[in-house]
Amino acid sequence: MKHHSSFRLTYRLGILLLTSSLISSCKQPDPLYHQQLYVFGTFVELTFWKVPEDTAQHAATQIAADLQTMHRNWHAWQPSLLTNLNGACAAGQTYTVPDASLLFMLKQAKQWSIASDGLFNPAIGKLIALWGFHRDDFSSHPPPSASAIAELLAQHPTMDDLSIEGQQVSSRNPAVQLDLGAIAKGYAVDLALERLRTLGIQNAIVNAGGNLKVIGSKDGTPWSIGIRHPSQPGEVLATLKVSGEESVITSGDYERFFEYQGFRYTHIIDPRTGQPTTDLASVTVVDKSGALADAMATALVIAGAQKWPQLAKQMGLNYVMAVDKKGIVYLTPAMAKRVQFDPVTRSLTKIIEVKN
Ligand code: AMP
Ligand code: MG
Repeated sequence: MKHHSSFRLTYRLGILLLTSSLISSCKQPDPLYHQQLYVFGTFVELTFWKVPEDTAQHAATQIAADLQTMHRNWHAWQPSLLTNLNGACAAGQTYTVPDASLLFMLKQAKQWSIASDGLFNPAIGKLIALWGFHRDDFSSHPPPSASAIAELLAQHPTMDDLSIEGQQVSSRNPAVQLDLGAIAKGYAVDLALERLRTLGIQNAIVNAGGNLKVIGSKDGTPWSIGIRHPSQPGEVLATLKVSGEESVITSGDYERFFEYQGFRYTHIIDPRTGQPTTDLASVTVVDKSGALADAMATALVIAGAQKWPQLAKQMGLNYVMAVDKKGIVYLTPAMAKRVQFDPVTRSLTKIIEVKN
């Protein structure tokens, strides 16, 4: 009997396997194309909806090449067009920027730096280097001395010091050292989606390590995007539906930091004090422009729990979510209408709507 039943099982299993292999061979190709790249010092995830496999692969190769070029041209501490420009600024010389996208980013960065009262200040590259963030390894080291910080602050490098006329860029202040780390990935996703459109791809997501932008939708259904929890790696704090052309950019103290004697020093530096920020753990901004959302997510982290709503208003941002070090979530009214928390997170989290 035993033998008989095991025979029947094998027989049935065989039928089952046969049927399932028939089903899978008849299955339509998956309309979602996923590709992960490692470029720009981060993992970049591409998602395309209903794009023929060869078009998708060609587009992924093109995006990888584009991002590689941006990374090379805009690098803040390895030889690049940006370090050439920094050399010229330090020497009081004029540099002819040969790359249209770098030039455009510099113009936007100048405008938004001034508009954010200098909280977003990409001219503080020397300060960022002084804190040890111009390297890829964040092993423990002592923070810089108060006098070294004070010396750099006294030189007051700002984007206002930068003159941009045509392709000619110069600085009236030799202390200006540009670091575009707070805006570059947001702008890179803007450019990546522009590229996808030119390749005929209308429905896509590009996610460069928390700097995400979508175009289109999934057969008319908005994309659902997870926003990571700043203090619980791998956990999604909230989700958001996005479609059309929108970026969702998060700046957080967890991205790059070092620890020294039990204290965490993050890579987001307050240009007023020269110190890493301590108030907010993360800020998420949703805006059509990835570059603006990126620059402002950084600026809002610096503005802190008290002042970010005012700065968001000043910068015309409607959709902002800020999370402080205690895990309290603050939302603009427009963001509160869009963002979703699962019931457990909602019951465990203090969520406050703030007018901006
Ligand atoms: P993000 O990850 O977009 O918040 O950008 C942080 C990066 O921007 C840092 O790693 C620095 O390279 C740079 N940065 C830090 N503080 C500032 C600041 N106040 N203004 C502009 N860029 C900054
Ligand atoms: Mg940023």
